[in-house]
Amino acid sequence: MFNNFINSYNEEIAKTKEKISGVNFAQEVQKFILKIQKLRGYSQFDANLMSEADYALVVNNVALIKADAQKDIENSKNLKALYPTLYDKEYEQIKNEIETLINSSLEDKVLMYQKYTYVIEQLQEKMYYLGFKSKLLLESESDKYFLIDIMLKHLPNLIEVVGKIRAKTSRAILEDSTDVELRYSIKNSCILCEEHAKQVQKAVEGIRDYDEKTRLLSLLENVNTETKKMQEYVKKSVTLSGQTISALEFFTLSTNTIDKIFVLYRADAEFLNQKLNQKLKELEEDKLHGIIIGAFIVILILLIIASMVRSYTLYVKSEKKIKNNLTAIIQLKNDLEKCATIEEIASQALYFFSEKFGVVQGAIYLFHEENNKLYLASSYATNEMKPIVELGEGLVGEVAIQKKSIATEFEISQKQVFRIENLTVAPSSICTLPLMSHEKIFGVLQLAFTTKHEIVHNQDFAYFIDMIIGFLRDAKSVYTSKKYIDLIDKYVITSKTNTKGIITDVSDAFTKISGYTKNEVIGKSHSIVAQPDTPKEVYEALWKTILDGKIYKGELKNRNKNGDDYWIETTITPQIDKYGNIMGFSAIIRDITDKKRIEQYSITDALTGLYNRRFFDVQFAKEYKISKRDGKNLVLLMIDIDYFKQYNDFYGHQKGDETLRAVAKTMQLLFKRANDYVYRLGGEEFAVSFYAGTQDEALERAELLRKTIQSQKIEHASSKILDYLSLSIGLAFLPKVCKMDVAGIYQATDEALYSAKNGGRNRIEMASLNP
Ligand code: GH3
Ligand code: MG
Ligand code: MG
Repeated sequence: MFNNFINSYNEEIAKTKEKISGVNFAQEVQKFILKIQKLRGYSQFDANLMSEADYALVVNNVALIKADAQKDIENSKNLKALYPTLYDKEYEQIKNEIETLINSSLEDKVLMYQKYTYVIEQLQEKMYYLGFKSKLLLESESDKYFLIDIMLKHLPNLIEVVGKIRAKTSRAILEDSTDVELRYSIKNSCILCEEHAKQVQKAVEGIRDYDEKTRLLSLLENVNTETKKMQEYVKKSVTLSGQTISALEFFTLSTNTIDKIFVLYRADAEFLNQKLNQKLKELEEDKLHGIIIGAFIVILILLIIASMVRSYTLYVKSEKKIKNNLTAIIQLKNDLEKCATIEEIASQALYFFSEKFGVVQGAIYLFHEENNKLYLASSYATNEMKPIVELGEGLVGEVAIQKKSIATEFEISQKQVFRIENLTVAPSSICTLPLMSHEKIFGVLQLAFTTKHEIVHNQDFAYFIDMIIGFLRDAKSVYTSKKYIDLIDKYVITSKTNTKGIITDVSDAFTKISGYTKNEVIGKSHSIVAQPDTPKEVYEALWKTILDGKIYKGELKNRNKNGDDYWIETTITPQIDKYGNIMGFSAIIRDITDKKRIEQYSITDALTGLYNRRFFDVQFAKEYKISKRDGKNLVLLMIDIDYFKQYNDFYGHQKGDETLRAVAKTMQLLFKRANDYVYRLGGEEFAVSFYAGTQDEALERAELLRKTIQSQKIEHASSKILDYLSLSIGLAFLPKVCKMDVAGIYQATDEALYSAKNGGRNRIEMASLNP
């Protein structure tokens, strides 16, 4: 249907193109005819009957026209190429005859006339034949019909008759002949000329296009004027009355008439050409539109048919199934949503397949990327599935590698018969399908059926699989993150408190290091784990930092439930809500007890547990710097036991050591504030550094130490001043403005101690410091 539609367009377009060729070819022929007609006219001239100059003009003109005509003949190959369907052997034959004719030199005027007229007739016939061949004369549309008629019939006839008049009248004038036959013939031609002119008029008037008609009528009027003028001279010449003109003048006059007719002819042909080209354009546009519309219609029809077929098929095949599967999908989703673990999801999925697709056995394996193994997540109606499958191992391992499903059919003899409840089940086919997630293998599903099953090709099945994978994937990521959380819980010591320091949560690792269970610490103050000896200023600084919304990082000594100390490095982050309010604090804690032990070892005196001399050298300089920075007054005590040499000598070295330890313990007890440091500088010499608001406060604390040791009444029989152990102390009060260097301070304090010794011992001397 559509092809016919297109073919009719193609046919019409071909016809129109042929017609255009016909018009153009006819014009070529007409132009050629004009030349032959002119030659026929000139052939009637006689050198003997006219002046030499006139004849020379004739000869010259003839030569020009002949050359021109010869050119046309030679150009016929071009015509042949341009109009292959119109240019034929007959036409070529006529041309050959004309070629012979124009090159011959016959003297007989009448015979020449006849010969020329004969070829002209042949050409005209040929032209008319072209009209049919190019289907121009089959044109039925009125305007074109008239234009064609004018061009192929009326105007050539008019031209020919005027051409005949021109030739015959010229001869008649030249010969000044009274030849009745010639005169009669001319008269006849003139009547015929009028007749053809009328026919042209009639045809032009038939044209509906106003512009074309007007244009052609005006041109026709020119023709008529010229024809009338010509006929007046013909009458005069024929009747031999009144003023006549020369043969050559008449020839020119009638040639003008022909020229005017030919102007009309060209206008007519031009209009015709325009009309045909217009039609061609329209046809081609229509064809294109036709194709588009046609194609659209065809597609539309095909779509309608396809959708009808499809909906019919769907309707017939699966109207009920759609409803069932929709219910099934909702059911599966609801069931899977209830599952908490991967195993439950897998198990639910297999149960679903058994219910909906008649699966008699099934298994779901999940792929573990960490070790490239497949783990059995769940199996249905079988206990024979391997819990772990290697990649490439068996059907499951193969599918995991190939990422393509494998359908396996087997003979009844090979099949395993098993029982589900009271049913004996004999699977005869197994589908092993890859479960893919983001183009990666996620797991493998294996299902067994009692019959050959096309389950893999079921669209709804793919939907179910997608849903199951989605649920498994979510569960796996939850599982993974839970596993991660578990790891954190297990290995990272964390605690959370509210703004008041009440524990709201702790990790397992916290319970392990602290020795308390979660229940024992949650709801209690975080100070439950604080080491009691830790200076309260440490906690004051900590709270100040975190209540300011800043992160606190520091090393703290904690005490566990058993009373053992452990060192932690804690990073406490305030939990701030979107309004900027502190909601609580979370601490990430690192057990640095071991590190602290090693560190402590290098800075601790082995006998007393006090900081050693090495640490003093480092720490005192640091403290002095910090005191300057913080604008605090630093105090340095240098302490020496009185007559300790004698003590050793009297009580023994062992006892001496014990006493050193006891003194050290007293010092630690008395100097345990945040910035208090107690050192054993060596032997029985100690140093203490602390901050003091005033010099009196400094003296007070030093005095407390001296008095405490004295009041302890540690027996010292060999002491020259007391019965008990005593201390001599040099005290340096370093105000924040102090500019002395550490070495100077040390020396001054040592000198103060020396003067305390010299001053009678068991006393405190102030170091004299440079401002
Ligand atoms: P002074 O009152 O002038 O200080 O008299 P002193 O006997 O204490 O004199 P000095 O400070 O010079 O003597 C230090 C003594 O301390 C020497 C040594 O017997 C004793 N001593 C030093 N180190 C230790 C130690 O590690 N253990 C014991 N048991 N005794 C020590
Ligand atoms: Mg000493
Ligand atoms: Mg001493």
